[in-house]
Amino acid sequence: MQINLKCEDGGLGITSPHISRFAAYAASITTCLPTIINMLNIFKNEQIHVEDFYQIDINSINLLSNNSNQSDLKRLFQDYFLIIQRFYQCDVQFTIKQFLTTLVNEKRLQKFLSDVIYDQIQQNYFNKIKESDSDTSHLNPNDKSRLANIVTNIGEENCKWITCLPKFTAYEIPNNEYQSALLRRLYLIQPFIPNNVTCTCQGKPLIDPEGRHSTSCPIGGNVQRTSKNIENTLVYIANYSGCRTISQEKHNFTLSVGNENRLPDVTIFDAPGHPHNKLLIDVSVIQSFVGSKNATQNPSLPFNFYTKIIEDPDSSCREAHRRFNQKKSDYQQISNENGHHFLPFIMETNGYIHNSSKNLLKRLSEKAAILHSIPSDNLYKYFTTLLSVSLQRSISQAIINTSARLNVPFFNHFDFNQTYEDISTYNQNVFGNNDNLD
Ligand SMILES: [Zn+2]
Repeated sequence: MQINLKCEDGGLGITSPHISRFAAYAASITTCLPTIINMLNIFKNEQIHVEDFYQIDINSINLLSNNSNQSDLKRLFQDYFLIIQRFYQCDVQFTIKQFLTTLVNEKRLQKFLSDVIYDQIQQNYFNKIKESDSDTSHLNPNDKSRLANIVTNIGEENCKWITCLPKFTAYEIPNNEYQSALLRRLYLIQPFIPNNVTCTCQGKPLIDPEGRHSTSCPIGGNVQRTSKNIENTLVYIANYSGCRTISQEKHNFTLSVGNENRLPDVTIFDAPGHPHNKLLIDVSVIQSFVGSKNATQNPSLPFNFYTKIIEDPDSSCREAHRRFNQKKSDYQQISNENGHHFLPFIMETNGYIHNSSKNLLKRLSEKAAILHSIPSDNLYKYFTTLLSVSLQRSISQAIINTSARLNVPFFNHFDFNQTYEDISTYNQNVFGNNDNLD
């Protein structure tokens, strides 16, 4: 079901034939019904008009075939009326008359009708998730995490890596990284992660097969690498927009005793909206929902987490907001004391970008629009796609790297009884050239 949802609703945007068949049938018959009736009138010498259908009671369609008083022609269209009944159940405005007088003029009728059914199915799906908020007692921790994963994937910026065409190198994702990202989106098991392995980090938690622990584990530097990649992408975006940047700039907090040696991730000069001050940025990538350290325990989600995020994807119960406030309290005061402006740049692992970070990207795209004579909306899409691809690639790499460290190496072809000739034959078969491998 999740894969049939639109990408911005947390799915993969693969239209279900179940949705499209009703829309396609209704749209095609609606469009050609007057012609069909004209032809039938000629061949059968019967005088029937499209208007005759207007008054048919939509609720009694199922009885049509049993009613011998009805004309054969009306019975001929029973399937069509049954499909209209399906739309009528979505909304009472969809009567037969409505189809044959108003909707028949709709330019993209099939698309319009698909949207009607999609909205209903999406509503039902989200309502079911919201119901879990009031009664989650029967769900196991993994199912709760799966639901949290679905709702935190909702949003237009989150799915850029799926919807973009890999026209540039920056949009390209190698196969194994793409596979890992798709599996994460659907909360399925990652093939590289070995079974039942505990991590060596604090608390020795079980490494979950869905890969959440591998993205937040402090060992191996993956967390830092992911946030460094986002930082580099942000630096590119700022430079592209005509702003000068410095990474890890020293001496920004000299007026604050005890904080003199702290470094912001990026300093942006001439940032839009901050003409007279440096804008200091601290970049963080945070898990979309808590509880990833130990995947066998319940995720400790805020009250009504699913409902709040479905109703408002920018809801303040998001992890990104918690991190935003935390970073503000860390840096805001010392930045003010030293005459700088400060902004935490925050993304969640499922791709959500914090509102204030989105604002910065919008302002930068407006500045870049003047510089490059490209519409700012296009540039905003370009920037968010770069960030989305960079984030998903980094996380995939984190999972693949951690898994490589955990898997027992494959030594099958080494046999202590092998002779030198066996080994050199093996080398020749595998590497082709024996001379350099002595
Ligand atoms: Zn760990």
